[in-house]
Amino acid sequence: MTDTPTQLFIGGAWVDAADGATLPVDDPSTGEILCHVADAGPKDARLAEEAAVRAQEEWARTAPRARSEILRRAYELILERTDEFARLMTSEMGKPLAEARGEVAYAAEFFRWFSEEAVRIDGGGGVLPDGRNRMLLSRRPVGPCLLITPWNFPLAMGTRKIGPAIAAGCTMVLKPAPQTPLSSLALAGILKEAGLPDGVLNVVPTSRAGEVCEPLLRGGRIRKLSFTGSTAVGRLLLAQCADKVVRTSMELGGNAPFIVFEDADLDVAVDGAMLAKMRNMGEACTAANRFFVHRSVAEEFARRLATRMGALVVGPGIRDGVDVGPLIDAAGRAKVEELVADAVERGARPLVGGTTPDGPGSFYPPTVLTDVDPGSRLMETEIFGPVAAILAFDDEDEVVHRANDTPWGLVGYVFTEGLDRALRVSERLEVGMVGLNTGLVSNPAAPFGGVKQSGLGREGGRVGIDEFLEYQYLAVPVR
Ligand code: NAP
Repeated sequence: MTDTPTQLFIGGAWVDAADGATLPVDDPSTGEILCHVADAGPKDARLAEEAAVRAQEEWARTAPRARSEILRRAYELILERTDEFARLMTSEMGKPLAEARGEVAYAAEFFRWFSEEAVRIDGGGGVLPDGRNRMLLSRRPVGPCLLITPWNFPLAMGTRKIGPAIAAGCTMVLKPAPQTPLSSLALAGILKEAGLPDGVLNVVPTSRAGEVCEPLLRGGRIRKLSFTGSTAVGRLLLAQCADKVVRTSMELGGNAPFIVFEDADLDVAVDGAMLAKMRNMGEACTAANRFFVHRSVAEEFARRLATRMGALVVGPGIRDGVDVGPLIDAAGRAKVEELVADAVERGARPLVGGTTPDGPGSFYPPTVLTDVDPGSRLMETEIFGPVAAILAFDDEDEVVHRANDTPWGLVGYVFTEGLDRALRVSERLEVGMVGLNTGLVSNPAAPFGGVKQSGLGREGGRVGIDEFLEYQYLAVPVR
C-alpha cells in the first residue's frame, strides 16, 4: 500500500521502537529486503500493555452497537482496498495475488461476522431449584488480551482474533509474525480510520518474541492469550500462562489425513486434493499432509493429481497467471527439501516435482510422491509446502486407525459417495473439523479449531466470541 505504516502502533499513535531498532521485511520471491519496520523491545511491549490496560474499562462500557459499527466500517474499508491489501500481502508473504485477494475477503468477513455477533451477546437468568433464589447471568469481556499470529495468513489470522475481541469489548496487544508485519500495521490503520478508540488495539512487530511476550504473560495484567502457531511454541506459552492463570485459546499445528475411498468420485477427490494441498502453497495448518488412498484407486488418483500439480505455474506471486508462489523463506524451503529427501531415501517415487529450482527466491515445485513409507518423517511432521505424500490402504478400520495415529487433530478430509461410510468415518476421526467431499473447511461462520495437540478453543462461528467473554452470575434471593 502506498502509505503502509512501518512504525509500532501504541495508544493510537505511530511510534518508533524505544531503542530505535528496526527489522527487515523480505520479499520471499527475490530474497531482497522490501522495507524495515520498527522492532519492538520489552519497553515498547510494556507501553502497549499499559495502553491496553488503560483503555479497557471504558471500552468494556461502550455500547455493543458502537463496537459493531466500528467492525462493520472496517469490513467495508478493507474490501474497498482489496487490491492494495492483496499486493501488500503478496509482497511480504509470497502467495499469488488471486489467493491474496481471497484472503482479504476471508479476513474482512470475520469483521462482518463479529459486527453481527457484537449485538447478540446473551446472558440469562432463572429461578433456582429452591424456588426462592433467582440468578441473573451477564457476560463481560475477559480483559486485555495478547494476540500472537503466524505469517501464513497475515491478515486473516489477525482479524479472526481482533474481530471477536472488539465485539466482546476487550483491548489488545497484537504481536504479528516478523516476516509479515505490514498487513497487521495496515489493518491497524484501517481500524483507526473506522473509529476504534486509542489503546484498544496496539501492534508490536518484533524480532524478539520471547523477550516481548513473556513479561506480559507473567505480569498479571494480560487476562487472555490467543495464539496461532506451532504446537511447540504453543506448549511453551501455555506454561508461561500457568503462572498467572491467563486464559488461553490455542490454534496450533495439524497433520491432516486426506482419505479417498474406492467409491469416491475421483474428479471430486482430485479437486479437493488441489485445494487441501495447494491452498497457500501448502503452508496452511489445514493442509492435507497424509494422503491415504484405497489401493484399488491409488495409482489412478496419483496419476491425475500429478497431472494437475505438474500444470501449475510457479513464479513470483505478484505476476499474472502464477498459481504457486515461493515458500516463506530459505529455512521453510530447506525443511521441505529434507522431508522429501528422507521420503525418497525410504523408497517414495516422485511422479512430479521433487527438485529445487535454481535462482533467487524460496521456490519449491508442486510435488507428488507415491509409495511413501509409513515411517517417513513427513508422516509425522507438518510439511508446510506443496508436497503430496500418497500411501495406499486396504480397509476402513485400518485407515481410521492410521489417520488417528498422530498427536495432532485439527482437520481431516474424507472422500466417499456412501452416506453411511461418510458419517461413520467422520465421527471416528479424532479431529475438530472434517471436510466431506471437499478440500476447504475454513469459514468465518463455522467454529475453527482442533483437538489433541492441535489446540484449545475455537475461532469463528457463534462460539468465537465466547473465548473473549466471562460469565458473571448474580445471586438474588427474593424474600
Ligand atoms: P511459530 O513458529 O509457532 O510462530 C507463530 C508466532 O509465534 C510468530 O508470531 C512467532 O514469532 C511467535 N513466537 C515464537 N516463539 C515465541 C515465544 N517464545 N513467545 C512469543 N511468541 C513466539 O509458527 P509459524 O512457523 O509462524 O507458523 C506456522 C505454524 O502455525 C504451523 O504449525 C501451523 O500449523 C500453525 N497454524 C495454525 C493455525 C490454526 O488455526 N490451527 C493457523 C495457521 C497456522 P517469531 O517468528 O518471531 O518467533
